Amino acid sequence: MDKINVFICYGGKWTQDNEYTSDKMTGIVVPMDCTYNHLECMICSVMKVSASTQRVKIQYRVKKNMPLMEISDDISLTFYLELKRKDKDLASFPLCINVTTFCEAVTDNSVTSAQKLPSMEEIAIDVYNNMSEVGETTDEGGSDIISMVTMDGISKDKVFKNKTMVKRSISIYAIHNNFQFKVSKSNKKEYVLKCIDDKCKWTFRASRLGGTDMFKVRYRKNVHICSNNIILGDHPQATSSIVGEFIMYKYISTKTTYTPADIISDMMNTYGVSMSYEKAWRSKEKALELVRGDPTESYEKLLEYLYMIEQTNPGSFTKIETYQDNKFKYLFMALGAFIQGWKYCRPVIVIDATFLKGNYGRTLFTACTQDANKSIFILAFGVGDLETNDSWEWFLSMLKEAYGEREGLCIISDGHASIKNAIHKVYENAMHGLYSYHLLKNLKSSFGGKKRGRRK
Ligand SMILES: [Zn+2]
Repeated sequence: MDKINVFICYGGKWTQDNEYTSDKMTGIVVPMDCTYNHLECMICSVMKVSASTQRVKIQYRVKKNMPLMEISDDISLTFYLELKRKDKDLASFPLCINVTTFCEAVTDNSVTSAQKLPSMEEIAIDVYNNMSEVGETTDEGGSDIISMVTMDGISKDKVFKNKTMVKRSISIYAIHNNFQFKVSKSNKKEYVLKCIDDKCKWTFRASRLGGTDMFKVRYRKNVHICSNNIILGDHPQATSSIVGEFIMYKYISTKTTYTPADIISDMMNTYGVSMSYEKAWRSKEKALELVRGDPTESYEKLLEYLYMIEQTNPGSFTKIETYQDNKFKYLFMALGAFIQGWKYCRPVIVIDATFLKGNYGRTLFTACTQDANKSIFILAFGVGDLETNDSWEWFLSMLKEAYGEREGLCIISDGHASIKNAIHKVYENAMHGLYSYHLLKNLKSSFGGKKRGRRK
């Protein structure tokens, strides 16, 4: 595949004469079929800029008196790469980068210091300090705003960042203190709770502060006269989100196994709260999302991940394929060490696929061989949708691109029809064999039948 060396200038500014003044320069190797997103990731990586909070503006100059050109999508990138390919001068058309944070990008494209932007917290405190409320003496300090789930802060006059924070804090408080409440009023302005036992006097009231989103605790009668007996059972405040927050620390280490059954037993033993298996399972999902983030978003990081694999494992071969609407389709990965070791192995490749258990299912494709110690030697991994002709053909053609073809090559697989089709198409000269294990299993299932008496 064709690749092009591109010089990157950064940390500077464009002058009025369209000259880019900078003393920082680096270089990247860009494949001819590179997408805009991939280029952006590569630039962010070499500049050590976070692609999630900052945006890069990629520009170059064609001639002195011409306006600047900008690369902002796949079309403008293809034009640039063609221009570079036709030009003999290696250092021509360096890409000049300006970095903007997302907030600035809306109003101003020039580079300014991100530190000048106040945080949401500061804005909230500012609004709170400058606020005058009718019939209310605001003598509290602005720093009292509670922006995290807390059990200590729900006493009278405490101010929460928003209603959600009040709801979550009081729910956790109720679970910890073995009581249940019911909502007697809940709207944009007010949040009033009562104990689940009508005879009990426990009451809690919070309401909105002025024209802000903040909520202030107005009244709290904290004495229960209800019986503790009614607390046992399914706790309405123990929602999956709240329990998820309780247990998220259990999932910080990937080595810990904490199953829905463990959640059920811990919630019962610690708080006397009984839970259904479904709720425990949902709580686990919520906790995992809190710790690891949304699995959908992790797909966005694949390009960066593959780029870093190529940087840290020289000689690696990675490829990602997307649908037209940029959704994930296939992925292929062969590390540099695998590729180097292949020439010392026998020319036998074993391929197989298995389903993945994650949120989005899909299929994991693998290729391996045996080294001189008769140990398994991995060659490549791939991820695709299902075991279809198309996905196997894509995986095998990537394998061939990464490893080439060897004389006397033999590919071993199970009897899946798609594999047979793909091997004949991609590796025309290779032998194709079946696993003896699968063959035996098929023989048994087709001709095994019931055990009969031995014939002589
Ligand atoms: Zn009560």
